[in-house]
Amino acid sequence: MTTRFNVRKKVLGNLKPVRLAANSAEPVSRSRGTEVPPPETIEPIVIDTRMRGESEIMAAHLLPGKRPALIDPGPANTAGNVIKGLREVGIQRLDSIVLTHVHCENAGAAGEIARHFPEATVYVHESVTGYLVNPERLADSARAIWGEDAEKWFGRSVAVETTRLRPLRDGDSVDLGDRRLEAIASPGHTGAHMVFFDRQTGAMVCGDALGLQLPGSRTIRPSTPPSDFCHDEAVASIEKLRGFDPASLHFAHYGESRQSPGETFDRAITAMTAWRTSFLKKSEVTENGEELLRSVNACVEATLEPVPPSVRRRFEVANPTWVNIAGMSGDLDRKQSRLADAA
Ligand SMILES: [Zn+2]
Repeated sequence: MTTRFNVRKKVLGNLKPVRLAANSAEPVSRSRGTEVPPPETIEPIVIDTRMRGESEIMAAHLLPGKRPALIDPGPANTAGNVIKGLREVGIQRLDSIVLTHVHCENAGAAGEIARHFPEATVYVHESVTGYLVNPERLADSARAIWGEDAEKWFGRSVAVETTRLRPLRDGDSVDLGDRRLEAIASPGHTGAHMVFFDRQTGAMVCGDALGLQLPGSRTIRPSTPPSDFCHDEAVASIEKLRGFDPASLHFAHYGESRQSPGETFDRAITAMTAWRTSFLKKSEVTENGEELLRSVNACVEATLEPVPPSVRRRFEVANPTWVNIAGMSGDLDRKQSRLADAA
């Protein structure tokens, strides 16, 4: 479905160019060399993917243990950074590559990382395994969200072999050797989104279900992209996650929450509702995409706490407002057409 608002090119013109990261084009040696001992902790460890050449905007999360797992390896073109990061924290063997969802920023590197760690099994929601077997589908989905520059920014994914894929349903778990990692269906950001919960440590790795929180700010920014964002499901999923009573929350963008889990859930819902309210109010009075973008931004700025300019710029690199508006617009269009069908 196309959305009414398409403002991406003009808005992107205002963004500062970003340096591309050293990426997977550089071969990473498997040689053991001076080996770093494996991590002593079982708490999540952040590996900075350096997505789009920026530090601390997209985190891959390592869950150490007898059978280490990597959650959301990041974009295809930064796989080399992640492999290097894993080596630096003492990971020589990876048993599982676990995906919260199949957006290219989170899942693009899965095939490359799987090639590098041939013992690893790849886990993803049962309805989207096809995106990993056929990376063209991942590329199409990336273009649908980010436009024609998607490949330039995130690289080109390679396929995961079918035999290495394990589809996940709500309540399934991933074996970490000394404990299990529970998969929680959490639709909203996208229909096939999953959050992963380690009951032993209480750590919950949330992908994009709660939105983003970047270093330098306590603000949580909702992430509402095309093509199947659903506001009502997103809010219901956040309440579902609260019911697990986690001890800590970990964002794909970026790392551990700066507040208690209870406050983080509250803030995520408040932010998502504020965006939605602003969007609905402004979309009633304009059909012009740029004007809508400006007024939604102004509205959100007025209702949420101030964001330092450096953090604002990084929010726009990780999760541009035009992407969010396109997603909210699609959600609204679907709801309206359901109402029209029912009438
Ligand atoms: Zn996403």
